[in-house]
Amino acid sequence: MTQSAQRPSKDPVRDTHFIVLGAGPAGCGAAAQLLRGGHGRVTLVERGTVAGGNAGSFLHEGIWLDFGSHRLHSAVDPAILADIQAMLGSDLGHIDRHGRIRLRGRWLHFPIKALDLLLHLNPGFALSMLRDMIGRTLLPKPAEGVTFASVLRANLGPTMCEQFYFPYARKLWGRDPSELSGIQARKRVTAGSFQKLLKRLVKPPGKGKFYYPREGYGQISRAYADAAQDLGADLRFNTSVEALERPSPGGKWRVSLSRDGVTEVIEADHVWSTIPVTQVARMMSPPAPPEVLAATGAIDYQGMILVYLVLDVDQWTTTDAHYFPESNVSVTRVSEPKNYFLSKEPKGRTILCAEVPCTPDSPLWQKTDAELGEMVAGDLARAEIPIPRPPVEVFTRRLRQAYPIYTMGYEHALGTLDDWVQALPGFLSYGRQGLFAHDNLHHALFMAYSAVDCLEGGHFDADKWAGYRKIFATHVVED
Ligand SMILES: Cc1cc2nc3c(=O)[nH]c(=O)nc-3n(C[C@H](O)[C@H](O)[C@H](O)COP(=O)(O)OP(=O)(O)OC[C@H]3O[C@@H](n4cnc5c(N)ncnc54)[C@H](O)[C@@H]3O)c2cc1C
Repeated sequence: MTQSAQRPSKDPVRDTHFIVLGAGPAGCGAAAQLLRGGHGRVTLVERGTVAGGNAGSFLHEGIWLDFGSHRLHSAVDPAILADIQAMLGSDLGHIDRHGRIRLRGRWLHFPIKALDLLLHLNPGFALSMLRDMIGRTLLPKPAEGVTFASVLRANLGPTMCEQFYFPYARKLWGRDPSELSGIQARKRVTAGSFQKLLKRLVKPPGKGKFYYPREGYGQISRAYADAAQDLGADLRFNTSVEALERPSPGGKWRVSLSRDGVTEVIEADHVWSTIPVTQVARMMSPPAPPEVLAATGAIDYQGMILVYLVLDVDQWTTTDAHYFPESNVSVTRVSEPKNYFLSKEPKGRTILCAEVPCTPDSPLWQKTDAELGEMVAGDLARAEIPIPRPPVEVFTRRLRQAYPIYTMGYEHALGTLDDWVQALPGFLSYGRQGLFAHDNLHHALFMAYSAVDCLEGGHFDADKWAGYRKIFATHVVED
């Protein structure tokens, strides 16, 4: 990254107004970088109460909680990491991973380690996998095809697919692997071939460590939002973007905001949007063309219920996150947030966070907190890590757009939307929801820094952005 974090530009275009939609990492990162670079005035609009989006945090009974397991991976761009370290100081821990994954009744370290795999992998599973590996080495590789199922089967053989990735995919995205695009396999499965799997076993990424802030993952986005505010950004929380009106030639964007039922229209030279690109198309005036509106119907997001169980013990286990790929357990992952910063406080309390992927129209979404708490407790008992006593409290949070779902052919609909949104003057759609990208926070921040790096004297260099987008396309999400 060439964009300096600290140095204000010598030639600021001070009266240019940027309105940034959404205060997740992508929005907060851009707001801070725009002001650090002296590119103009910034208004940051967020419908939630705090910064962070899906990567945000909240405090409950003295424990910082995230929306599911979040950690900053070592793959973060060094310049961005340096900025985060400068803002968070000793509040940013560098911590050993203690994850584990349940497979065929055995616990394996996660990320997987070679020795642990040899010692603990279910022997039947190990033999089948060995047979698949030998087959893949001796026989010609089958055609990859175009679905998540066919790509993974061609590369990893039936054992890993049927016992691990396919049940996990059904739970995570609520679709059969044959209905998902092969792109999902290439972007989401970091060990997508035996060579990659072996490489990760021999040389695990990030040396098994991760970065994590004292006050939850959301502290990273809050630090960017605070930095932006210190430099004069107008931060509007509890404020929803309701409508977007395209500028007439030479004119400005008009953005309708709603807070507590009161609507306000503000004008801007640039709109940088990190809200779902589907929302952007639906709220545009004059309306988006019919084919663009039709394309929004072919873009699916997976939602998620986070079920928090408050326990009256110091600590439940020493593990940070338990992964459950198999179908005999309903949740995909259960984390213990206190373990992420190795917190010992408060005494006599810990909170578990279970991730239940589902869409708002599913029966699961309608369940009460108590029902969901019982479901999670049942899962944990089946996985032989029961909670010691019934929880003293169960509560939930719901994310409507947790994961993009790459269904077969989604790329055509996304292409239609993307071509349209890219042609809007002074409008930039980016971030996880803006590009429908399966990403991590460090990717969202990289997009924000890249966007600001494309500005030169008030002009946005679209060719440079196109170059950055090629880099974004190589991003692979990490768990
Ligand atoms: C369960 C789970 C686990 C994850 N684990 C990790 C991890 O370990 N490490 C990691 O780095 N990343 C992880 N991620 C990914 C991480 O959360 C995202 O990469 C990050 O949140 C993307 O940031 P963003 O700013 O692009 O989008 P978002 O965080 O989605 O932010 C978009 C913002 O727009 C706001 N918004 C939407 N519509 C409107 C509107 N109409 N008006 C106003 N505001 C609006 C939303 O409220 C939100 O705050 C995980 C994600 C999930 C769901």
